[in-house]
Amino acid sequence: MRLSRSLIPTIKETPSEAQIASHRLMLRAGLVRQTASGIYAWLPAGWKVLQNIARIVTEEQEAVGAQAMLMPTIQSSELWKQSGRYDAYGPEMLRLQDRHGRDLLYGPTNEEMLTDLVRQSVNSYRDLPQILFHIQWKFRDEVRPRFGVMRGREFLMKDAYSFDIDYEGAVVSYRKMMLAYMRTFQRLGVKAIPMVADTGPIGGDLSHEFIILAPTGESQVFYDAAYEEMDFTRKAVDHENPDDLERFFNEVTHNYAATDEKHDEAAWAKVAQQREGRGIEVGHIFYFGTKYSQPMGLTVAGRDGTPVVPHMGSYGVGVSRLVGALIEAHHDEAGIIWPDSVAPFPAVIINLKVGDAGCDALCEQAYAAFKGRALYDDRDMRAGGKFADADLMGHPWQIVVGPRGAATGMVELKRRATGEKQELSLEAALALIT
Ligand code: ATP
Ligand code: MG
Repeated sequence: MRLSRSLIPTIKETPSEAQIASHRLMLRAGLVRQTASGIYAWLPAGWKVLQNIARIVTEEQEAVGAQAMLMPTIQSSELWKQSGRYDAYGPEMLRLQDRHGRDLLYGPTNEEMLTDLVRQSVNSYRDLPQILFHIQWKFRDEVRPRFGVMRGREFLMKDAYSFDIDYEGAVVSYRKMMLAYMRTFQRLGVKAIPMVADTGPIGGDLSHEFIILAPTGESQVFYDAAYEEMDFTRKAVDHENPDDLERFFNEVTHNYAATDEKHDEAAWAKVAQQREGRGIEVGHIFYFGTKYSQPMGLTVAGRDGTPVVPHMGSYGVGVSRLVGALIEAHHDEAGIIWPDSVAPFPAVIINLKVGDAGCDALCEQAYAAFKGRALYDDRDMRAGGKFADADLMGHPWQIVVGPRGAATGMVELKRRATGEKQELSLEAALALIT
């Protein structure tokens, strides 16, 4: 993208409405703009980040056998009346009526809709297990939308749903998702600790929230300091092998880590290295048995032919919230520091003297090498402003082209994360980056 022709409206001043770093930086770096309370437009650079996260989430879901699909945002109220949640959900649900007076709603989640779809097409235990997911906009009329995209009203979520013939099967599906989540967050460049969370009336311990530690987080958390050191994701785990999954699950959940809802003083007392803090919930996985399949009449023929009610789980990732959470975890005074995996552009090419034949030619050569995927700062303005914007936007690499180096094909390469700079040929710089 050529910056001179892009809608990436960076701003120098700190926006007064933003209370936390990620919200300020998302506005300042021109990633998003609010269009109504808790509702955001994703501008070109922000949209790229969102898509990069969605791609990684999708790849890791598919890697454990979950199937991608897409359900609509607008739902009929009928299914919610069947599950008993239409009235119970309360004012967070945005309710609509069509021209015929039929009750519709903008989906806050999709348990009912998918239970209905499975009910229509799955008839036998042989058709199970199934895990399906989609990445779709949700609407929840939050009382207090805040912190930018972290608690929006319209937000992008990955939600997966599992259907198994029995509890044992559901446990296997749950562990597959635990594996997928740990791999996903590692690839996104953040440490998300799985914390035991409330299961409500279902009971048991098959509910985990994935929490990124940050002082501005909304959740109060208690965990063993061992988690700060642990790297649980490098090992190979065969997701088709239940024993492998069990071993992985036990390792990942071995130490104490719980959100305040599920905090257990007796167990906590035994933790040697106690840590208390704040965290951002970026995902939540949950086993809920037959809570929806039962009232909605989803049954399949079991092994002996008698009808069986499948056990379900649901598994959410806050895709748009993650953009804010990643920035909370990766920024400094000057701006965002994108992990390579999600950066909107792998590099920015900074032309220090637009109009200088040598600079222009070398920049064009660099830009062509990225096949349009890099950002080319071709604006006719002072170097200081360009450097400040590059640091603010957080591109992993900055390729700086000035008249002196351009004569001999040399550039200055800066790594945003470390600030480290080196002079080298354009070819060598490109080889380092790709
Ligand atoms: P919270 O306690 O933060 O309200 P939740 O329990 O309502 O979250 P889930 O229903 O489990 O969340 O949704 C799955 C994921 O969607 C959450 O882990 C979170 O990352 C994200 N999410 C939930 N509500 C919002 C929101 N208002 N804005 C942005 N992301 C959200
Ligand atoms: Mg909520």
